[in-house]
Amino acid sequence: MWVGIISLFPEIFGPFLKFGVIGRGINSGLIKIDFWNPRDFSGDPNGAVDDKPYGGGPGMVMKAQPIFSAIEAAKKERGSDLHVVYLSPQGSPLNQNVLKGLLEKRNILLVCGRYEGIDERLIERVVDEQISIGDYVLSGGEIAAMVVIDGVSRFVPGLLGGETSAHDDSFSDGLLEHPQYTRPFSWAGRSVPDILLSGDHQKIADWRKSEAIDRTSKRRPDLLKSRTLTEKERKILNKNIEISNE
Ligand code: SAM
Repeated sequence: MWVGIISLFPEIFGPFLKFGVIGRGINSGLIKIDFWNPRDFSGDPNGAVDDKPYGGGPGMVMKAQPIFSAIEAAKKERGSDLHVVYLSPQGSPLNQNVLKGLLEKRNILLVCGRYEGIDERLIERVVDEQISIGDYVLSGGEIAAMVVIDGVSRFVPGLLGGETSAHDDSFSDGLLEHPQYTRPFSWAGRSVPDILLSGDHQKIADWRKSEAIDRTSKRRPDLLKSRTLTEKERKILNKNIEISNE
């Protein structure tokens, strides 16, 4: 997967790209990241990339042309079919399906805004998709871009230890994941549920499914509303409700 980043502050990404899944992906060549800085395309003697908003108001707005030229430079190098994504609090909410959609595009260009955002005409002209990482406002798109890169990387085939791990994660089948335990067996007076030591794979799978349904219904009932439960899952949910009403 190739990810291009348009940012005024590419240095922010330094350590993030060195460690863990992303670092491994880059070292193994499964992920490639390139940067373009709008400041290099400002066309202004002072390198200005922002200006006051038309109509007045606080703050500054990123000018269209430097970002447009940076995007053109990226397209010249990587091909014109780049999928251009603007990270914006006004975009569609990010979720696992949005990440899988980005993976399918293979070549994505993430545009990080700063200040009060970007001149709307640039967005109308070149942006294919706008993504928000949540209903709050950050100072810049760089952290949002890192969230997208980290999330999408988990779906890059061959990057995680087990080929299927990302597909077992929370949200992938519309449920939160079951609880996880590791050694020691007993810690702070609490033991690991016996069933996990039973060696019975079917029973363990059933227990995990039951726990996943239970915590999803308690913590994120909205997820269950938008997911059709199988007959077996509905029985588990009803049984869990009965137990917690006892
Ligand atoms: N004035 C803009 C508004 O109210 O919609 C917010 C601009 S914000 C201070 C600066 C930049 O941070 C945005 O251009 C965007 O790239 C990024 N950003 C802020 N919040 C974000 C969010 N929730 N998701 C994705 N990007 C965000």
